[in-house]
Amino acid sequence: MKLPIHDTELKTKSLLGVSSDEMGDLLGRWDEKPYRAKQILEWIYDRHVASIDEMTNLSKALREKLAGEFHLFESRIVTESKATDRTQKLLLGWADGQTTECVMIPSDRRRTACISTQVGCPVGCVFCASGLDGVKRNLTTGQIVEQVMRVQRLCEPDERLSNVVFMGLGEPLANYDCTVAALRQINALVGIGARKITVSTVGLPKQIRRLADEQLQFTLALSLHAPTDELRQQLIPWAEGVAIAELVDAVRYYFDKTGREITLEYVLLEGINDARNHAAAVADLCRKMRTNVNLILYNPVPDLPYRRPTDEAARNFLQTLRSKGVNAHLRPSRGMEIDSACGQLRRRTEHGTNA
Ligand code: SAH
Ligand code: SF4
Repeated sequence: MKLPIHDTELKTKSLLGVSSDEMGDLLGRWDEKPYRAKQILEWIYDRHVASIDEMTNLSKALREKLAGEFHLFESRIVTESKATDRTQKLLLGWADGQTTECVMIPSDRRRTACISTQVGCPVGCVFCASGLDGVKRNLTTGQIVEQVMRVQRLCEPDERLSNVVFMGLGEPLANYDCTVAALRQINALVGIGARKITVSTVGLPKQIRRLADEQLQFTLALSLHAPTDELRQQLIPWAEGVAIAELVDAVRYYFDKTGREITLEYVLLEGINDARNHAAAVADLCRKMRTNVNLILYNPVPDLPYRRPTDEAARNFLQTLRSKGVNAHLRPSRGMEIDSACGQLRRRTEHGTNA
Protein backbone atom coordinates (compact mmCIF):
# COMPACT_ATOMS: atom_id res chain seq x y z
CA MET A 1 0.00 0.00 0.00
CA LYS A 2 1.47 3.36 -1.03
CA LEU A 3 0.48 6.00 1.48
CA PRO A 4 0.57 9.70 0.79
CA ILE A 5 3.06 11.96 2.49
CA HIS A 6 1.71 15.44 2.44
CA ASP A 7 4.20 18.33 2.16
CA THR A 8 2.42 19.37 -1.07
CA GLU A 9 0.09 21.56 1.02
CA LEU A 10 3.09 23.47 2.30
CA LYS A 11 4.78 26.19 0.28
CA THR A 12 8.12 25.44 1.91
CA LYS A 13 10.16 22.28 2.57
CA SER A 14 11.48 21.16 5.94
CA LEU A 15 15.05 22.14 6.74
CA LEU A 16 15.11 19.15 9.09
CA GLY A 17 14.86 16.81 6.11
CA VAL A 18 17.97 18.30 4.47
CA SER A 19 21.20 16.33 4.89
CA SER A 20 24.58 17.94 5.42
CA ASP A 21 25.63 17.24 1.80
CA GLU A 22 22.37 18.64 0.45
CA MET A 23 22.81 21.77 2.55
CA GLY A 24 26.31 22.24 1.10
CA ASP A 25 25.01 21.75 -2.45
CA LEU A 26 22.18 24.19 -1.90
CA LEU A 27 24.41 26.97 -0.62
CA GLY A 28 26.84 26.29 -3.45
CA ARG A 29 24.00 26.80 -5.94
CA TRP A 30 23.16 30.04 -4.18
CA ASP A 31 26.81 31.17 -4.48
CA GLU A 32 27.21 31.34 -0.73
CA LYS A 33 30.46 30.48 1.09
CA PRO A 34 30.66 26.79 2.13
CA TYR A 35 30.91 27.66 5.85
CA ARG A 36 27.37 29.04 5.69
CA ALA A 37 26.05 25.48 5.53
CA LYS A 38 27.90 24.63 8.73
CA GLN A 39 26.55 27.74 10.43
CA ILE A 40 22.97 26.86 9.55
CA LEU A 41 23.38 23.29 10.82
CA GLU A 42 24.91 24.61 14.07
CA TRP A 43 21.94 26.90 14.67
CA ILE A 44 19.54 24.01 14.17
CA TYR A 45 21.28 21.09 15.85
CA ASP A 46 23.58 22.67 18.46
CA ARG A 47 21.78 25.82 19.46
CA HIS A 48 18.27 24.46 18.91
CA VAL A 49 16.75 27.65 17.53
CA ALA A 50 13.04 27.66 16.74
CA SER A 51 13.12 29.81 13.61
CA ILE A 52 15.31 30.83 10.67
CA ASP A 53 15.06 34.41 11.93
CA GLU A 54 17.14 33.50 14.98
CA MET A 55 20.16 32.57 12.80
CA THR A 56 21.67 35.97 13.39
CA ASN A 57 25.13 35.41 11.92
CA LEU A 58 23.55 34.95 8.48
CA SER A 59 22.79 38.02 6.43
CA LYS A 60 19.17 39.15 6.40
CA ALA A 61 19.08 38.46 2.66
CA LEU A 62 20.22 34.85 3.16
CA ARG A 63 17.72 34.31 5.96
CA GLU A 64 14.95 35.61 3.73
CA LYS A 65 16.05 33.43 0.84
CA LEU A 66 16.17 30.40 3.13
CA ALA A 67 12.74 31.17 4.58
CA GLY A 68 11.35 31.50 1.06
CA GLU A 69 12.10 27.82 0.41
CA PHE A 70 12.26 26.21 3.83
CA HIS A 71 10.66 26.14 7.26
CA LEU A 72 12.20 24.90 10.49
CA PHE A 73 9.22 23.81 12.59
CA GLU A 74 5.99 22.99 10.82
CA SER A 75 4.04 21.67 13.79
CA ARG A 76 2.17 23.48 16.50
CA ILE A 77 1.93 22.04 19.99
CA VAL A 78 -1.70 21.05 20.49
CA THR A 79 -1.25 19.74 24.02
CA GLU A 80 1.69 19.35 26.35
CA SER A 81 1.50 17.17 29.45
CA LYS A 82 3.88 16.10 32.18
CA ALA A 83 3.53 13.03 34.41
CA THR A 84 4.67 12.84 38.02
CA ASP A 85 7.62 10.68 36.85
CA ARG A 86 8.67 13.67 34.66
CA THR A 87 7.73 11.95 31.40
CA GLN A 88 6.50 14.65 29.03
CA LYS A 89 4.26 14.17 26.07
CA LEU A 90 3.47 16.44 23.14
CA LEU A 91 0.59 16.18 20.75
CA LEU A 92 1.77 17.90 17.57
CA GLY A 93 -0.58 19.32 14.93
CA TRP A 94 0.73 19.33 11.34
CA ALA A 95 -0.17 21.78 8.58
CA ASP A 96 -2.76 19.42 7.09
CA GLY A 97 -4.57 19.20 10.44
CA GLN A 98 -3.35 15.70 11.35
CA THR A 99 -1.86 15.05 14.77
CA THR A 100 0.87 12.75 16.13
CA GLU A 101 2.50 12.17 19.50
CA CYS A 102 6.05 12.31 20.79
CA VAL A 103 7.36 11.76 24.29
CA MET A 104 10.41 12.70 26.39
CA ILE A 105 11.31 10.00 28.88
CA PRO A 106 13.92 11.09 31.43
CA SER A 107 15.87 8.69 33.62
CA ASP A 108 19.00 9.17 35.73
CA ARG A 109 21.45 9.43 32.88
CA ARG A 110 19.26 9.29 29.81
CA ARG A 111 16.95 11.61 27.97
CA THR A 112 14.99 9.51 25.49
CA ALA A 113 12.73 10.77 22.70
CA CYS A 114 9.95 8.44 21.59
CA ILE A 115 8.72 9.43 18.14
CA SER A 116 6.08 8.51 15.53
CA THR A 117 6.52 7.58 11.87
CA GLN A 118 2.93 7.58 10.62
CA VAL A 119 -0.39 9.27 11.41
CA GLY A 120 -2.15 6.29 12.98
CA CYS A 121 -1.03 2.77 12.10
CA PRO A 122 -2.01 0.37 9.32
CA VAL A 123 -1.32 -2.77 11.36
CA GLY A 124 -4.11 -2.60 13.94
CA CYS A 125 -2.76 -4.79 16.76
CA VAL A 126 -5.76 -5.61 18.93
CA PHE A 127 -4.33 -4.17 22.15
CA CYS A 128 -2.91 -0.92 20.74
CA ALA A 129 -4.55 2.51 20.56
CA SER A 130 -2.49 3.65 17.54
CA GLY A 131 -4.15 1.50 14.92
CA LEU A 132 -7.74 1.68 16.14
CA ASP A 133 -8.67 4.27 13.53
CA GLY A 134 -6.34 2.96 10.82
CA VAL A 135 -3.62 5.02 9.20
CA LYS A 136 -4.03 8.45 7.60
CA ARG A 137 -0.62 8.99 6.04
CA ASN A 138 3.12 8.66 6.41
CA LEU A 139 5.21 11.29 8.12
CA THR A 140 7.97 12.88 6.04
CA THR A 141 11.65 12.68 6.97
CA GLY A 142 11.51 16.30 8.17
CA GLN A 143 8.45 15.62 10.31
CA ILE A 144 10.11 12.60 11.93
CA VAL A 145 13.25 14.62 12.73
CA GLU A 146 11.10 17.57 13.86
CA GLN A 147 9.70 15.47 16.69
CA VAL A 148 13.23 14.80 17.94
CA MET A 149 13.98 18.52 17.94
CA ARG A 150 10.68 19.30 19.67
CA VAL A 151 11.56 16.79 22.39
CA GLN A 152 15.10 18.20 22.65
CA ARG A 153 13.52 21.55 23.41
CA LEU A 154 11.71 19.96 26.38
CA CYS A 155 15.08 19.16 27.97
CA GLU A 156 16.93 21.62 30.18
CA PRO A 157 19.24 23.95 28.20
CA ASP A 158 22.34 22.03 29.36
CA GLU A 159 20.85 18.61 28.60
CA ARG A 160 21.05 16.76 25.33
CA LEU A 161 18.95 13.88 24.17
CA SER A 162 20.86 10.64 24.57
CA ASN A 163 18.50 8.12 22.94
CA VAL A 164 15.75 7.99 20.35
CA VAL A 165 13.20 5.20 20.05
CA PHE A 166 10.88 4.79 17.06
CA MET A 167 8.05 3.49 19.23
CA GLY A 168 5.32 6.09 18.81
CA LEU A 169 2.48 5.95 16.30
CA GLY A 170 2.95 3.87 13.20
CA GLU A 171 5.00 1.04 11.80
CA PRO A 172 8.43 2.52 10.94
CA LEU A 173 9.31 -0.10 8.31
CA ALA A 174 6.00 0.51 6.50
CA ASN A 175 7.34 4.05 5.90
CA TYR A 176 10.76 2.73 5.02
CA ASP A 177 12.38 5.52 2.99
CA CYS A 178 11.43 8.38 5.33
CA THR A 179 12.31 6.29 8.39
CA VAL A 180 15.78 5.44 7.09
CA ALA A 181 16.46 9.01 5.93
CA ALA A 182 15.36 10.25 9.39
CA LEU A 183 17.59 7.66 11.09
CA ARG A 184 20.55 9.00 9.14
CA GLN A 185 19.70 12.62 9.99
CA ILE A 186 19.28 11.86 13.69
CA ASN A 187 22.58 10.03 13.73
CA ALA A 188 24.63 12.45 11.61
CA LEU A 189 23.12 15.81 12.53
CA VAL A 190 21.32 15.50 15.87
CA GLY A 191 24.44 13.57 16.89
CA ILE A 192 22.92 10.52 18.54
CA GLY A 193 24.97 7.33 18.20
CA ALA A 194 23.40 4.67 15.98
CA ARG A 195 23.42 2.18 18.86
CA LYS A 196 21.35 4.62 20.89
CA ILE A 197 18.63 4.76 18.27
CA THR A 198 16.08 1.94 18.33
CA VAL A 199 13.70 1.07 15.53
CA SER A 200 10.78 -1.00 16.76
CA THR A 201 8.92 -3.06 14.20
CA VAL A 202 6.01 -5.42 14.18
CA GLY A 203 8.12 -7.50 11.80
CA LEU A 204 8.40 -7.00 8.03
CA PRO A 205 11.06 -9.53 6.93
CA LYS A 206 11.86 -7.92 3.58
CA GLN A 207 12.39 -4.50 5.13
CA ILE A 208 14.41 -5.96 8.02
CA ARG A 209 16.80 -7.45 5.47
CA ARG A 210 16.92 -4.17 3.56
CA LEU A 211 17.76 -2.33 6.78
CA ALA A 212 20.49 -4.89 7.49
CA ASP A 213 21.95 -4.24 4.03
CA GLU A 214 22.23 -0.51 4.81
CA GLN A 215 25.03 -1.65 7.17
CA LEU A 216 24.09 0.80 9.90
CA GLN A 217 24.44 0.09 13.60
CA PHE A 218 20.92 0.95 14.73
CA THR A 219 19.25 -1.20 17.38
CA LEU A 220 16.41 -3.28 15.99
CA ALA A 221 13.52 -4.21 18.27
CA LEU A 222 11.05 -6.82 17.08
CA SER A 223 7.57 -6.83 18.61
CA LEU A 224 7.06 -10.55 19.20
CA HIS A 225 4.27 -10.64 21.83
CA ALA A 226 3.58 -14.36 21.32
CA PRO A 227 5.69 -17.49 20.90
CA THR A 228 3.35 -19.24 18.43
CA ASP A 229 1.98 -18.15 15.06
CA GLU A 230 -1.54 -18.95 16.16
CA LEU A 231 -1.47 -16.64 19.18
CA ARG A 232 0.54 -13.97 17.39
CA GLN A 233 -2.04 -13.83 14.60
CA GLN A 234 -4.78 -13.21 17.16
CA LEU A 235 -2.89 -10.16 18.45
CA ILE A 236 -1.26 -8.77 15.29
CA PRO A 237 -3.30 -8.83 12.05
CA TRP A 238 -0.19 -8.55 9.84
CA ALA A 239 1.17 -11.74 11.43
CA GLU A 240 -1.28 -13.63 9.20
CA GLY A 241 1.14 -13.25 6.32
CA VAL A 242 4.40 -13.62 8.26
CA ALA A 243 5.40 -16.73 10.17
CA ILE A 244 7.62 -16.39 13.25
CA ALA A 245 10.14 -18.67 11.49
CA GLU A 246 10.50 -16.05 8.71
CA LEU A 247 11.11 -13.35 11.28
CA VAL A 248 13.73 -15.47 13.01
CA ASP A 249 15.52 -15.80 9.64
CA ALA A 250 15.29 -12.06 9.00
CA VAL A 251 16.66 -11.04 12.41
CA ARG A 252 19.44 -13.59 12.12
CA TYR A 253 20.34 -11.92 8.84
CA TYR A 254 20.26 -8.54 10.62
CA PHE A 255 22.64 -9.85 13.26
CA ASP A 256 24.99 -11.40 10.69
CA LYS A 257 25.19 -8.15 8.71
CA THR A 258 25.42 -5.68 11.59
CA GLY A 259 26.67 -7.65 14.59
CA ARG A 260 23.86 -6.06 16.57
CA GLU A 261 21.84 -8.18 18.98
CA ILE A 262 18.08 -7.90 18.44
CA THR A 263 15.68 -6.86 21.19
CA LEU A 264 12.47 -8.85 21.34
CA GLU A 265 9.59 -6.83 22.76
CA TYR A 266 6.87 -8.69 24.53
CA VAL A 267 3.82 -6.85 25.90
CA LEU A 268 2.39 -8.86 28.77
CA LEU A 269 -1.39 -9.21 28.51
CA GLU A 270 -3.13 -10.86 31.43
CA GLY A 271 -4.51 -14.32 30.70
CA ILE A 272 -3.44 -14.15 27.05
CA ASN A 273 0.32 -14.44 26.63
CA ASP A 274 1.63 -14.31 30.21
CA ALA A 275 1.64 -17.97 31.30
CA ARG A 276 4.74 -19.94 32.28
CA ASN A 277 4.45 -22.13 29.16
CA HIS A 278 4.48 -18.98 26.99
CA ALA A 279 7.70 -17.88 28.70
CA ALA A 280 9.24 -21.32 28.15
CA ALA A 281 8.31 -21.21 24.45
CA VAL A 282 9.79 -17.69 24.11
CA ALA A 283 13.01 -19.01 25.67
CA ASP A 284 13.09 -21.83 23.07
CA LEU A 285 12.76 -19.24 20.28
CA CYS A 286 15.55 -17.14 21.79
CA ARG A 287 17.95 -20.06 21.34
CA LYS A 288 17.64 -19.54 17.60
CA MET A 289 18.79 -15.90 17.58
CA ARG A 290 21.11 -13.46 19.35
CA THR A 291 18.52 -11.56 21.36
CA ASN A 292 17.57 -9.96 24.60
CA VAL A 293 13.95 -9.74 25.72
CA ASN A 294 12.20 -6.60 26.84
CA LEU A 295 9.01 -7.39 28.75
CA ILE A 296 6.55 -4.51 28.65
CA LEU A 297 3.75 -4.11 31.16
CA TYR A 298 0.60 -3.35 29.21
CA ASN A 299 -0.71 0.19 29.48
CA PRO A 300 -4.49 -0.31 29.46
CA VAL A 301 -6.39 1.45 26.66
CA PRO A 302 -9.95 2.63 27.37
CA ASP A 303 -12.58 0.59 25.47
CA LEU A 304 -10.19 -2.34 24.97
CA PRO A 305 -10.64 -5.47 27.09
CA TYR A 306 -6.96 -6.15 27.81
CA ARG A 307 -5.31 -5.89 31.22
CA ARG A 308 -1.78 -5.96 32.54
CA PRO A 309 -0.83 -8.98 34.64
CA THR A 310 -0.09 -8.63 38.34
CA ASP A 311 3.48 -7.69 39.26
CA GLU A 312 3.94 -11.20 40.58
CA ALA A 313 2.86 -12.83 37.30
CA ALA A 314 5.18 -10.50 35.39
CA ARG A 315 8.10 -11.34 37.70
CA ASN A 316 7.40 -15.07 37.27
CA PHE A 317 7.47 -14.67 33.50
CA LEU A 318 10.79 -12.86 33.78
CA GLN A 319 12.18 -15.52 36.11
CA THR A 320 11.19 -18.33 33.77
CA LEU A 321 13.02 -16.63 30.91
CA ARG A 322 16.10 -15.98 33.03
CA SER A 323 16.17 -19.50 34.43
CA LYS A 324 16.44 -20.69 30.82
CA GLY A 325 19.42 -18.46 30.16
CA VAL A 326 17.61 -15.62 28.39
CA ASN A 327 18.86 -12.07 28.91
CA ALA A 328 15.51 -10.47 29.84
CA HIS A 329 14.31 -7.26 31.49
CA LEU A 330 10.98 -6.00 32.72
CA ARG A 331 10.51 -2.45 31.57
CA PRO A 332 8.85 -0.19 34.11
CA SER A 333 5.86 1.67 32.67
CA ARG A 334 6.34 5.39 32.31
CA GLY A 335 3.90 8.27 32.06
CA MET A 336 0.75 6.23 32.64
CA GLU A 337 -1.38 9.17 33.71
CA ILE A 338 -0.62 11.13 30.52
CA ASP A 339 -1.70 8.32 28.18
CA SER A 340 1.88 7.54 27.34
CA ALA A 341 1.25 4.29 25.49
CA CYS A 342 1.45 5.12 21.83
CA GLY A 343 -1.70 6.43 20.25
CA GLN A 344 -3.61 7.08 23.44
CA LEU A 345 -3.29 10.83 23.73
CA ARG A 346 -4.11 11.45 20.09
CA ARG A 347 -7.10 9.17 20.28
CA ARG A 348 -8.44 10.79 23.41
CA THR A 349 -8.07 14.24 21.98
CA GLU A 350 -9.66 13.33 18.67
CA HIS A 351 -12.52 11.59 20.42
CA GLY A 352 -13.05 14.66 22.58
CA THR A 353 -12.47 13.02 25.95
CA ASN A 354 -9.36 14.93 26.92
CA ALA A 355 -10.96 18.28 27.67
N1 SAH B 1 4.70 -0.33 15.27
C1 SAH B 1 5.92 -0.62 15.91
C2 SAH B 1 6.43 0.54 16.74
C3 SAH B 1 5.42 1.31 17.56
S1 SAH B 1 4.68 0.43 18.90
C4 SAH B 1 5.80 -1.90 16.74
O1 SAH B 1 4.70 -2.38 16.94
O2 SAH B 1 6.84 -2.39 17.16
C5 SAH B 1 6.02 0.26 20.06
C6 SAH B 1 5.81 -0.82 21.10
O3 SAH B 1 4.75 -0.42 22.01
C7 SAH B 1 5.40 -2.15 20.51
O4 SAH B 1 6.15 -3.21 21.06
C8 SAH B 1 3.94 -2.24 20.91
O5 SAH B 1 3.48 -3.55 20.95
C9 SAH B 1 3.92 -1.55 22.25
N2 SAH B 1 2.58 -1.11 22.68
C10 SAH B 1 1.55 -0.72 21.92
N3 SAH B 1 0.48 -0.41 22.69
C11 SAH B 1 0.85 -0.62 23.97
C12 SAH B 1 0.20 -0.48 25.23
N4 SAH B 1 -1.05 -0.05 25.32
N5 SAH B 1 0.90 -0.78 26.35
C13 SAH B 1 2.19 -1.19 26.27
N6 SAH B 1 2.86 -1.33 25.11
C14 SAH B 1 2.20 -1.05 23.96
FE1 SF4 C 1 0.90 -0.36 14.94
FE2 SF4 C 1 2.88 -1.05 16.61
FE3 SF4 C 1 0.44 -0.33 17.55
FE4 SF4 C 1 0.74 -2.66 16.28
S1 SF4 C 1 1.69 -2.06 18.22
S2 SF4 C 1 -0.94 -1.15 15.96
S3 SF4 C 1 2.24 -2.13 14.75
S4 SF4 C 1 1.87 0.97 16.46
